[in-house]
Amino acid sequence: MNIVHFPHPALRWKSQPITTINSRLRSTVAEMFELLYESKGVGLAANQVVLPWRVFVINSTGDSEDKDQEFVFINPEITGRKGSEEAEEGCLSLPELYGDVRRPSEIVVEAWDLKGQEFQMGLSELPARVVQHENDHLDGVLFVDRLSDSARREIQPRLDDFRVVFQRQQDDGQIPAEQDLNRRLNELESQA
Ligand code: ZN
Repeated sequence: MNIVHFPHPALRWKSQPITTINSRLRSTVAEMFELLYESKGVGLAANQVVLPWRVFVINSTGDSEDKDQEFVFINPEITGRKGSEEAEEGCLSLPELYGDVRRPSEIVVEAWDLKGQEFQMGLSELPARVVQHENDHLDGVLFVDRLSDSARREIQPRLDDFRVVFQRQQDDGQIPAEQDLNRRLNELESQA
């Protein structure tokens, strides 16, 4: 498992709802947490590790010792939104790129945990932002899609650089070709 970078097509996949919470999902989630801490992130969605399933993990402290702040969201749905706030975001799939994103400042999110228990959470500040950012990933949306036109223009050269690197890696065979990725996507979707 590894984190893919923009413009990997997996980041644009619209993920499938998870139908079974089993040991495979539990080990996937454990690996995602490991990667999250290794990468010094605060949230990681399944698309970012090339799995088209509706699950993400967060720890908004980024501290692997702080297990109380580890949360897994399976088939999440944001059911309430309030306020509006602009703050800087980054993404493990767009390393070293940052931009201001306007989002609701308070949310209510419903999801299932790894025990198959449904839960509801009211969030504000950083956790609210992280959950919205990760939830976007499941719909194939990246924070750069939510920048103002002027901010987007400003970072366009950086996005172009990412495209050049990706193309080179695909040409070198480090990243599978489009048709192989699509085959893999179909296989994985049927396993959700
Ligand atoms: Zn991200």
